[in-house]
Amino acid sequence: MQYKQSPWNLSDLFPAHDSPEMKAAFDELEGKVIEFEAIRPALSAEISDDTFMNAVRAIEAISRLANLIGSFASLRFAADTQDQSIQAFQSDVDSRMAVISNRALFFSLWWKGLNDQEAERLMAVAGDYRYWLEEMRHFKPYTLTEAEEKIINIKDVTGARAIVNLYDTLTNRYTFHLDAAGETKELTRGELMVYARHYDPKLRAAAYQELYRVYSQDGIILGQMYQNLARDWHNENLDLRHFGSPLAVRNLSNDIPNDVVDTLLEVCQKNTSVFQRFFRLKARWLGMDHLRRYDIYAPVAKTEKKYGFNDAVDMVFDAFERFEPRVAELANRVLEQNHLDSEVRKGKSTGAFCATVAPDITPWVLVSYLGKPEDVATLAHELGHAIHSQLAAEHTLFTFHSSLPLAETASTFGEMMLVDQLLAEEKDTSVRQALLFRQVDDAYGTVMRQAQFAIFERQAHELIQQGATVDELSAAYLENLQNQFGDAVEVSDEFRWEWISIPHFYQTPFYVYAYTFGQLLVLSLYQQYKIEGEAFKPRYLRLLTAGGSQSPVKILSDAGIDVHSAHFWQGGFNVIQGLIDQLETIPVVK
Ligand SMILES: [Zn+2]
Repeated sequence: MQYKQSPWNLSDLFPAHDSPEMKAAFDELEGKVIEFEAIRPALSAEISDDTFMNAVRAIEAISRLANLIGSFASLRFAADTQDQSIQAFQSDVDSRMAVISNRALFFSLWWKGLNDQEAERLMAVAGDYRYWLEEMRHFKPYTLTEAEEKIINIKDVTGARAIVNLYDTLTNRYTFHLDAAGETKELTRGELMVYARHYDPKLRAAAYQELYRVYSQDGIILGQMYQNLARDWHNENLDLRHFGSPLAVRNLSNDIPNDVVDTLLEVCQKNTSVFQRFFRLKARWLGMDHLRRYDIYAPVAKTEKKYGFNDAVDMVFDAFERFEPRVAELANRVLEQNHLDSEVRKGKSTGAFCATVAPDITPWVLVSYLGKPEDVATLAHELGHAIHSQLAAEHTLFTFHSSLPLAETASTFGEMMLVDQLLAEEKDTSVRQALLFRQVDDAYGTVMRQAQFAIFERQAHELIQQGATVDELSAAYLENLQNQFGDAVEVSDEFRWEWISIPHFYQTPFYVYAYTFGQLLVLSLYQQYKIEGEAFKPRYLRLLTAGGSQSPVKILSDAGIDVHSAHFWQGGFNVIQGLIDQLETIPVVK
């Protein structure tokens, strides 16, 4: 089989955005919503099992059709972001979908309003929809009266949400200036931070200095915005709703018990020395006696090695095949059905993703394949996502998609399988080095950096309750950095402003630890695989097959994994240690 780079084919969804089929789909959607609205009078605590299940299936059918239309719009857009007719189509789809979700909102409101006994009777007959129904009710114990909820909603628009909007508006306008290649460039933040990965150490330093010069000019204002958001979080969630802690609010929406998150963060805190060792090693490779915070993402490997696309696909399939032939088959489906866009084209969305539309439809995958070793790893990663959702295809539309903490399991695992195989076969040390540095750089960014963010957020929310000033928060942030880097990395003073530049802290408090959870989980699973071999495979496949049909902790414990145990999380760090051990065996060349 010869694989060639090509754009994907979306005709399994629709022939075109302006096709008669698309128009018919909108008409069908409208019809389904009208039918669903007709069920409304039947919704009561005494509703029959059959009528209830009809209502559930009706929303599923609406969501499915809405997904097909919405996915077509976003995939067409990703394939050509410069096509104005698609841009217009996409905004039209967005606004129509917002109207539809409002029209269907009555169901979830009614459902959350039932008492536990009434809900339990219906969940008992709901089969695979059960977890989806259960999850909607999680916030019920923390829900206030309807009048109170309405007031909060109304006041939020001009309160907390308005502050977040102001933060976004203000910071999105920032422009940055950098002297590079003999000229002063005006850059966006994204463009500026490309220089954080530049070969020239002076440019790396200049990029960060400029970033925090600009942010710190508004430091007091941005800091005050954060203080108000943290106070609002406390006033609403702890005082009114009676959550036990600021972090507990996020844990409930992730459906992860508080003690699991505490254990996860403690284990991360205990392992700061793992990355300190990596940064010392990196300094040696860069020929510096000390790494500066500016150099964390400095490029080390200088490999020129390119892999042809066909070879890359063969290598990825080969790695999957060795693990389990069925896994390779599912990955192959994406290529067979022409659902992979691997070309490099002008106007195509940058980055890589896998889009899952519905359980019975093979996902679409986008990468821009250039042939570097990391491009092969990215291909394995995105095909891993496609494998995960296909393995879970037996579930309903609402329960096949894995929840956030488990979403990166198959993708990262697939990537690890590929990298392991490449490392075993590749003789060229510069390629080995490129792969290893990429793995550990990524692990730092997703595991330790995000864990430290969460640890800081927890501390900041507490400090704000005690009346901390913006300067005191910045000092606490700097101390956090010094703790995590120890004497391995020199942190200059302007990094005290980093915290006001992290949008997640403002938009979605405590979101960040989900990255840590997901990545460390996979690393730890991978270690179990290395130890147990064949015995591990059925457990792992069961985990993927569960999709999002139960809580993450239940899915994991069914697969024999105890996320309450510090030992389990430590396994993930052991894998990172192993990667660093391998790096240490490669002789330094300068
Ligand atoms: Zn991913």
